[in-house]
Amino acid sequence: MLQRSHKAAAPVVRRWQGAGCTRGLATASEPYDAIVIGGGPGGYVAAIKAAQLGLRTACVEKRGSLGGTCLNVGCIPSKAMLNNSHIYHQTLHDLKSRGIDVSGVNLNLPQMLKAKDQAVTSLTKGIEGLFKKNKVDYIKGTASFLSPTSLRVSLLDGSGETQLEAKNIIIATGSEVSPFPGGKIEIDEKQIVSSTGALELQKVPEKMVVIGGGIIGLEMGSVWSRLGAEVTVVEFLGGIGGVGIDEEVAKQFQKILAKQGLKFKMNTKVLSADKQDGKVIVKTESAKGGKEETLEADVVLVAVGRRPVTAGLNLEAIGVETDNKGRIVIDDQFNTSVKGVKCIGDVTFGPMLAHKAEEEGIAAAEFLHTGHGHVNYAVIPSVVYTHPEVAWVGKTEQDLVSAGVKYKIGKFPFLANSRAKTNADSEGFVKFLTEKETDLVLGVHIIGPNAGEMIASAALAMEYKASAEDIGRTTHAHPTLSEAFKEAAMSAYGSPIHF
Ligand SMILES: Cc1cc2nc3c(=O)[nH]c(=O)nc-3n(C[C@H](O)[C@H](O)[C@H](O)COP(=O)(O)OP(=O)(O)OC[C@H]3O[C@@H](n4cnc5c(N)ncnc54)[C@H](O)[C@@H]3O)c2cc1C
Repeated sequence: MLQRSHKAAAPVVRRWQGAGCTRGLATASEPYDAIVIGGGPGGYVAAIKAAQLGLRTACVEKRGSLGGTCLNVGCIPSKAMLNNSHIYHQTLHDLKSRGIDVSGVNLNLPQMLKAKDQAVTSLTKGIEGLFKKNKVDYIKGTASFLSPTSLRVSLLDGSGETQLEAKNIIIATGSEVSPFPGGKIEIDEKQIVSSTGALELQKVPEKMVVIGGGIIGLEMGSVWSRLGAEVTVVEFLGGIGGVGIDEEVAKQFQKILAKQGLKFKMNTKVLSADKQDGKVIVKTESAKGGKEETLEADVVLVAVGRRPVTAGLNLEAIGVETDNKGRIVIDDQFNTSVKGVKCIGDVTFGPMLAHKAEEEGIAAAEFLHTGHGHVNYAVIPSVVYTHPEVAWVGKTEQDLVSAGVKYKIGKFPFLANSRAKTNADSEGFVKFLTEKETDLVLGVHIIGPNAGEMIASAALAMEYKASAEDIGRTTHAHPTLSEAFKEAAMSAYGSPIHF
């Protein structure tokens, strides 16, 4: 028998004042069909889909705004800063050669941060609107399990606690910044920052050290480098870009970023970062051990990964299983070890990406309604939103080598693409990996302008099991960057025309 130690022991029924909720809260006699814990891209999409399928649905979110990490402190604010810092950098360094003379160009950082905040607010409010439109009850508070069908919610407005009942509960509590291993570096979000603090710096640092050369480190490093900081990226591994990047692309990527001014210390381990006389002293040594080195910085960004959020959910009380990385264990229908409790997004297995969480949200809601849902984990694109962008989907060359698959490569450089040349933006290439015998597309890797948009064509092609020849024989408009995509496919099964 479960001990109910919460303040609101009896089910509370009252009119809810929060956005989107017009009915009384669910009681044991009239439970919700589904409650989603967490309003990030996984959770809010699951809630909307469940409501669209006719399920009486609520979403509990504790941060006071919807959209989770992605909209509040992740994808959206980082892309606002990437876009605007790129425009600033281009205005300073690139416009003259294009016949545009500008003078008096100044960085107005407070305004740039404000523009980022406005983008965030308009999108998070937009989701509240979608909740209203789809009749999802939005409950602002922190949820924890009382039983597999019952949640205690500590309300954000300080008015106390309430209890919610549901036939099904979906956990979508996401992830948070991983602390530096061993706890040797203390994040204060001012001088030693996580990605969250790196989106809020009030002054461009003269020197910035980024610990971790994965996607987040490179994106935020690019932002502050473009705005004038001297940025040094320290990476434990021998290559940048994190998990899943093709090694050939990673090498080219590093060269391009180095040309833009970022410095790299590869195969290097950070030992400590300590504040001293207004600076941060970062101690490093070779990853294999050896001589120590010291770097001095005004700001240090710790970007060593993210970890699942399960604290406070009271999972132990109902027996939801987690693995040794703290991720909630699920089966292929998003069921946890407890009947009626599903889980999606960053808090469980798979790449920590917003679009992966969204797809899982839709599939989990569909499983609740129809018993069927689908996410193709072999075709989840990844994008690094630097300039040029880097994007990939499917297998890397190193994956194919280690699996012993016989493959062909089709490559086409943007230097040979008319639009890229016309735009004077022609760094990078498109690389196809196809199965040697069948010509089936196994992976596509792009480094170049608009790679993040172009990768959608590769994902679509792979979903439909296209061959490189299918793509090479599809008419692509001229002059477009996507002709490089077509010609890379052509070179996988035959020859390109323009290279
Ligand atoms: C700087 C940065 C940039 C990124 N850029 C990209 C990108 O460009 N593209 C991309 O695909 N991904 C990007 N990501 C990753 C992306 O943000 C995540 O993969 C995505 O947000 C995961 O969605 P989610 O719904 O699983 O979890 P989250 O977005 O983390 O949402 C979980 C929500 O649950 C809430 N919650 C937790 N516990 C409780 C509780 N007990 N009760 C109520 N609410 C609770 C949290 O407050 C949170 O709002 C980025 C991340 C960062 C940090």
